[in-house]
Amino acid sequence: MAEKIIAYRFDRLEETLGQLNKDNCAIIAGGTDVMVMHKSRRGVPPKIPKPIIFIDHLSELKRVYLKGNNLHIGACCTYSELLDDALIPIPLKKAIKTIAAPAIRNRGTLGGNICNASPAGDTLPLLYVYNAKILLRSVNGERIVPVSEFIQGVRRVQREPNEILTEIILPSVLVEGAHVVFEKVGNRNADAIAKVGFAGYIRTKGAVIEDVRFAFGAVGPTMVRSIDIEKKLLGKTIPLADADIAQVIAAFNKIIKPIDDQRSTALYRKTVALNLLRYFLSMKHN
Ligand SMILES: Cc1cc2nc3c(=O)[nH]c(=O)nc-3n(C[C@H](O)[C@H](O)[C@H](O)COP(=O)(O)OP(=O)(O)OC[C@H]3O[C@@H](n4cnc5c(N)ncnc54)[C@H](O)[C@@H]3O)c2cc1C
Repeated sequence: MAEKIIAYRFDRLEETLGQLNKDNCAIIAGGTDVMVMHKSRRGVPPKIPKPIIFIDHLSELKRVYLKGNNLHIGACCTYSELLDDALIPIPLKKAIKTIAAPAIRNRGTLGGNICNASPAGDTLPLLYVYNAKILLRSVNGERIVPVSEFIQGVRRVQREPNEILTEIILPSVLVEGAHVVFEKVGNRNADAIAKVGFAGYIRTKGAVIEDVRFAFGAVGPTMVRSIDIEKKLLGKTIPLADADIAQVIAAFNKIIKPIDDQRSTALYRKTVALNLLRYFLSMKHN
């Protein structure tokens, strides 16, 4: 006989937070990572060792809106919903189109991609270069944390058991006039897990670099970003001198430490990551 599981599905966020405060539950948004993580052999239902609590239907977690210059994205917006939303920046839509196939995009959520904290999570390099912050709520109140602090390691995030990630905040994303690039290298254009992910962000005044950011996915336990290396390019002019490009590449060569696994080799990953960076640094950005 199939084992009984306890499942909660409240109408409102407040009730959901109340239950999470009483009971250590497994949160299910789209379930596209959770179900794989707990899968059993064929024909046997997944075994999730805790009560489960569904959050994917909560209207409080499905809004996309501007507040001042900041774009707020509900954690439970599915990828398909985000692709249809005019406020979502084009580079983020480009990343989403590389994720899985439409059936998974109809279920998978941005909040789930963050909380799953896979080194190959496709939205993460972009969220890092956008300096994304996340809003977490519990019965005790709310807190805002940079995504780069929230994600601590492979599938490790700084979330208290009674907290829900409610919104992703992209600061000033629609007003900065930055040039933002996303690239994913995998076996296919979509429906393949990344061998390497890359996001680059650059804002110039005339030819002078005012802000520049890079993040690499799938080449370490979490996204690789270095504010110290980025700072070296501030005030330089575009096109960058070959020596400046070489210096940045040499610096990342030291800190990018990928691994061999079933999808790729460390050597391939590092070579491609540095090539993507070189390509981005050589672009005209106007
Ligand atoms: C066939 C297939 C292909 C895939 N391809 C890709 C791909 O190409 N690129 C890619 O990046 N990913 C891919 N994925 C992984 C997955 O679809 C994404 O990571 C997706 O964004 C997960 O979202 P979800 O809502 O389904 O998360 P869920 O599975 O519901 O949750 C994932 C984790 O996050 C927690 N969680 C979710 N939402 C919240 C929240 N709001 N607050 C607190 N905790 C939360 C859950 O408890 C769980 O630990 C694929 C998965 C499958 C099955």
